[in-house]
Formats: sequence, C-alpha cells, structure tokens
Amino acid sequence: MSTQIPIQEGLFTWPAPSPQLIGSRCLNCGEVTFPAQPSCPACTSDRTEEVLLSRRGTLWTWTIQHFPPPSPPWLGDPKAFEPFGVGYVELPEGVRVEAPLTENDADSLEIGMEMELVVRRFDEDADGNERMTFYFKPAA
Ligand SMILES: [Zn+2]
Repeated sequence: MSTQIPIQEGLFTWPAPSPQLIGSRCLNCGEVTFPAQPSCPACTSDRTEEVLLSRRGTLWTWTIQHFPPPSPPWLGDPKAFEPFGVGYVELPEGVRVEAPLTENDADSLEIGMEMELVVRRFDEDADGNERMTFYFKPAA
C-alpha cells in the first residue's frame, strides 16, 4: 500500500480528516499570511505565530489554465497536461490564497461562490508514495 505524503511540509495539516492550511499571524499588527512566514510582510515584525486557517472561503477571482505553466515550477509531463482551474480564495482571516481548483469548467465557477479546502493526490514520487496537495472545490 502506498503512503500519502504532503507535496511540501508545512503547507497543510496531513493526515487529517479535515485538513487545514497552515498560515501565520503577526503578533504585532495581526496580518495573516499563507504560506506561514517567519516575519510579517506588512510591518516586518519577526513575532509571528502559526495559525490554522479556515477551510472555507469565497472565490475572489479565478481563471482556467489552458497551457502548461513554465517548468519549473510546473514539473508534470506536458503531453499529460489537462486544463485546470486556478484561483484566489479569500478566507475569513483576511488572507487570499492562490490555489488550484478542482473544477476546470468555466460554467461551474463564479466569483463570490463559497469554496472548501480539499487535499487530493497530485502525483507519485519515485518510491511509489502518493504526493498530496491542496485544492479548493465549490462547497456543497
Ligand atoms: Zn505585522
């Protein structure tokens, strides 16, 4: 049986029945960032704490990516590329998270709709582990 591992440590809680993104909050001015940062981009304070972000937010803007992005950062096989949605989801903490979307059909996406975090398989590494990453999907 293969093991499911996060594509990158420190991005989201995993394994977890209800995974959450891991951000940081500035103890000086309250600015929330994702991914977590050791110093605040708003006031440069280095006093930040880790905070688990809400699993739901609203779709702030989105697009459908029809061509493989430059590699890196995109590491997939160009021949296997399928269009995917990508968007910014605004969370109640006041942070906008850029993330791939589970939908690649423009008819199923609308600015302002409620979105929910999900963690799904991204690919498989050389050892046969499933590498997991986060997406947002329209909330049921
Ligand atoms: Zn700050």
